[in-house]
Amino acid sequence: AKHKGKSSYAHFVPEMTEVSHDRLQMESRMRRALDQNEFELYFQPIVQTDTGALSSAEALIRWNSPSMGMVMPDRFIPLAEETGLIIPIGEWVLQEACHKAMKWREITGTNVGVSVNVSPRQFRDPNFSDIVLKALESSGLEAEYLELEITERLILDNTIETAEILKHLDQAGIRLSVDDFGTGYSALSYLKSYPFDTLKIDKSFVQDVLKEQDDASLVRAIINMAHSLGLRVIAEGVEEEAQTHFLQHEGCDYSQGYFYSRPVPEEAFEKWLRTNHR
Ligand code: C2E
Ligand code: CA
Ligand code: CA
Ligand code: CA
Repeated sequence: AKHKGKSSYAHFVPEMTEVSHDRLQMESRMRRALDQNEFELYFQPIVQTDTGALSSAEALIRWNSPSMGMVMPDRFIPLAEETGLIIPIGEWVLQEACHKAMKWREITGTNVGVSVNVSPRQFRDPNFSDIVLKALESSGLEAEYLELEITERLILDNTIETAEILKHLDQAGIRLSVDDFGTGYSALSYLKSYPFDTLKIDKSFVQDVLKEQDDASLVRAIINMAHSLGLRVIAEGVEEEAQTHFLQHEGCDYSQGYFYSRPVPEEAFEKWLRTNHR
């Protein structure tokens, strides 16, 4: 309510205090969480659309907080971004993800790639490239099996630095994908000038592909455009078998979603690997 005068002021202050108290508490819990090993990576398979064969897995962070239970990334990544804690957390994610990919290679006898989400604050940290290279080096994973997922929003935000960092990562052989494709302001020209390998079609388009003619047209157009630019396409949020038929028919390279598997903890992913791989 938009009251004026003293009464609303008196009402407003305690609310603000409460909000900032919550944030401070969350922040200090998050700081502790790294030391206490409370973060965990879940993994979701990314498969070839035509055969269903495993290609790689996306690492998705979870926070097992003793006081709050399992906390999903949407609830803490934004605050981690604001406070800068995303930089050490992101480094942990990179290290962990690269080491796990090496472990999957042992289990399957073939190469399984890993995709890692990168936040804007992390990406703009001057040490970002070094942190990525260090994770590859300490795990022994070759650059081509690491894919960094960068949102369209980040790419469109600041150009010169972004271009340089992307170029550097690309030259190191790391794969780069555009996450949530189609949800940004979509000035498509960046696709031409930046060294991306992959477009991930946002799940909001994929989910209604059988219900909405417009979404079907958009997905079809994105696949064709990506292919003519030499990019691979991943459809995310695939939940139903009928969607896989559509995506196969349209030549979408890779798929990811609950239809194949939800994101699962490490042990469950390894089990999935053992049973689905051969
Ligand atoms: P995202 O990168 O777009 O990740 C995909 C999200 O969609 C994941 O949510 C995943 O669980 C969910 N998903 C996968 N398949 C399906 C499906 O078939 N249907 C539906 N409805 N959803 C599906 P999650 O794990 O809650 O992650 C949310 C977001 O948090 C991610 O969105 C990503 O932006 C961010 N995030 C996750 N892990 C990290 C991380 O390690 N670092 C950073 N910076 N961000 C992360
Ligand atoms: Ca992602
Ligand atoms: Ca590249
Ligand atoms: Ca996404």
